[in-house]
Order: sequence, then C-alpha cells, then structure tokens
Amino acid sequence: MTFPPQLPIPDEVLKIAKKLEDAGFETWCVGGAIRDNLLGLENHDFDLTTSAKPADVQKVFKRTVPVGIEHGTVAVLDSANHPHEVTTFRKDIQTDGRHAVVEFGVSLMDDLARRDFTVNAIAYHPIRHEWRDPFQGEQDLAKKLIRSVGDPNWRFQEDYLRILRALRFSARFEFRIHARTLEAAKANAQGLAQLSAERVRDEWFKGIQTAKKLSKLAGLWRDVGAARIWLPELGDTTHIDKLPRDPVIVTAYVAKDPASLLTRLKCSNRDIERGRAIGKWRENYPDPRNAAALRKWLSETGEYADDLLIGGPDSLAKAVAAIRAKHPPLSLKDLAVRGDDLIASGVRPGPDVGEMLARLLDEVLEDPARNTREYLLSRV
Ligand code: ATP
Ligand code: MG
Repeated sequence: MTFPPQLPIPDEVLKIAKKLEDAGFETWCVGGAIRDNLLGLENHDFDLTTSAKPADVQKVFKRTVPVGIEHGTVAVLDSANHPHEVTTFRKDIQTDGRHAVVEFGVSLMDDLARRDFTVNAIAYHPIRHEWRDPFQGEQDLAKKLIRSVGDPNWRFQEDYLRILRALRFSARFEFRIHARTLEAAKANAQGLAQLSAERVRDEWFKGIQTAKKLSKLAGLWRDVGAARIWLPELGDTTHIDKLPRDPVIVTAYVAKDPASLLTRLKCSNRDIERGRAIGKWRENYPDPRNAAALRKWLSETGEYADDLLIGGPDSLAKAVAAIRAKHPPLSLKDLAVRGDDLIASGVRPGPDVGEMLARLLDEVLEDPARNTREYLLSRV
C-alpha cells in the first residue's frame, strides 16, 4: 500500500486547518480518521493536531469548547455547531499508568511518538497534501498489524488502557497484534486493575459495538488476561456472534452473574437491573404453546421481556408477538377495577387491597375474558 496523493478532507475541517496555518501554526490531520480512510472505510471525523497552544486556538476561533484543555484539546465549533477536536502537539512527560502530565511546545514528530499504535500515528497535511509516517503505520495497515509505537512494555505501562485499545482495534479490523506487542499486553495485564471502571467499561462497550466478531473480541480479552481482572464472570462466548450489538445486552448474556459484572463496570442502576433480569430469567423461559404461561411471563418480566426474548428460542418470540397482538391485560393498571372499587365493595383499606388486586390479576392472566368489572367484583 502507498499513500494516496490526497485525502478527501471535509470543508469544515479544511477551513479550520487553513485558519490555523494562516495564523502561523502548523496543523495536521491525525488519528482514527486517517487510519480509516487509508483502509477505505468512511470516517469524516478528522482530528487536527497543531503547534498552536490551547489559548491560541481559543483566540483564533470565536466559538470553542474546552473539552480537554489540560491535555491540549479544544473543540472548534463549525457553522453547524458541529465540534472538531484540535489538539496541541504534545508529549507525555509523566505518567502513572492512568493519567499523564503533558508538555506542549513540542514537534509533530514528538506528538506522533506519544500515540499508541503505528496505524494511529500517521499524519496528513490537508493543505500541502504531505504525509508523515515515522513509525511505518502505513506498512502495518497493509500487513494488518496492531503494533505499539516504540517499546510496547513502556507504552502499556504509561497507560494500561492501551492494552484494551489494542484488543478493540484488533477485533474491529481483524488485524493481528504484533508478537512483541501481544506479549507485552499479556505481561502487563495486571496493570489493568489500576484503571477506572468507567474507562474500562467504555473500551469494552466500544469494542462490542465495533468488533467484526464478538467471539473474537471476548477471546482476546480472555487470552490477554483482561477478562480475568475485569470480566471474571465471563462465561461461554461461543454463541455470542448473533447477539444484537447492545453493550448491556451482550455483557449480560456473556456473564455468569450479569448484575455483579455490570456493577463492577459502574453501569447505571437501570442497566444493572436489565442485567439482573437476564440473569434471573434466561434459564426459565415459558412454554411457547401455553398462552396463559406466556401472559404471566410477560406480566412478571415487564419492561425486560424484549431483552429476554433475545436469548430465547424463535418460537417464543413468535408466540409472544401473537399474544401481544391481542393486547391482553398484563398489569394492575390494565384491570377493569381499581383499588377504590374494591374498597367500595367492602375490602378493608390497606394491604388487603393490593393482595386482592394481585389475585384478580392472576385470574385475568389465566383468562383475559375475565377482565370485566362485573366478573372481578363478583370475585371479591
Ligand atoms: P476511534 O475513534 O475510531 O475509536 P481513534 O484512533 O480515533 O479510534 P481516539 O480515541 O478517537 O481513537 O483517539 C484519537 C487518536 O489519539 C488515536 O488515533 C491515537 O493516535 C491517539 N490516542 C488516543 N488514545 C490514546 C492513548 N490512550 N494512548 C496514546 N494515544 C492515544
Ligand atoms: Mg476517534
């Protein structure tokens, strides 16, 4: 593979680059969009890297957002309010495996050298159409290789998240991980324990959304030792390739104890509850031929029914669709009587009302035709 003479840079990105160059600041396109375009994949989200310091960028452009100013990143808003990330050439001068102290006023070469993988360390000048590829990223793209920039041990120890990024890119592009990079990833896997749950979760979730094959991604997490630390509940992953790419669903279905895994990953309470429902119900599906059992199941699983259908047999999904098409009463609010009606006909106010309503719902789930005021009050 060789570099194309030009890349199609979106107008808005080009405008930003021109403005910075006109103000005397060297400005290059870098990162994932360069990589993806060289691979023939659509990606218009070009990041810019520049010699301008964050304060310079804020002076040159009227409308900016300081999205990561301590790391040199300012988002410039275009005419459609779309943000474009502009990051100052930087070097990491102090790292602890999680955070970096960065220094500005360095060269493009230094900036490329601090990037994680060779395929992510290619720069393109959008005006002069020049390329800079000091680490042979273009060769690695052609060879389908994920390879650390520089010594992989050092690079992983500077930021352990890079181990997970390597797995994500490998699964997404079906690239091999270079032998020494893979070896270092395994050797440094214990360092992953230092990362925050949020960063790990974001990587795992992005991986789920972008991997060509989920089983490949899960296999990499296991082989490298990342699963041992962050996904110890990971179970059988041979049948996960058919799952929809909803990260919470995938995580729940691959986990032996979904709620504990989603809790470790600091997911929202809502997502943890979704996972808990999957863990609770997935081995306990109703018989698709038994309509009353299906209505009871729909009533009990409530908002989680659709998540659960994903893991059930097709015959169940079909049977449930047929039941739903008839809109049967499934919850207390669907009953033809209210608590007040029960009290009016003699039920003592208090817990008795709830108990009676629940019993009536059971009867109605058994046979929806019973859901009339007359019938239900006759049962009180
Ligand atoms: P994508 O956005 O498609 O996931 P990307 O390569 O653009 O992939 P980003 O996280 O958007 O990834 O980062 C942009 C660029 O910043 C990367 O291409 C890489 O050069 C650099 N980078 C990002 N994270 C790291 C890191 N942890 N260590 C070193 N360089 C990084
Ligand atoms: Mg990106």
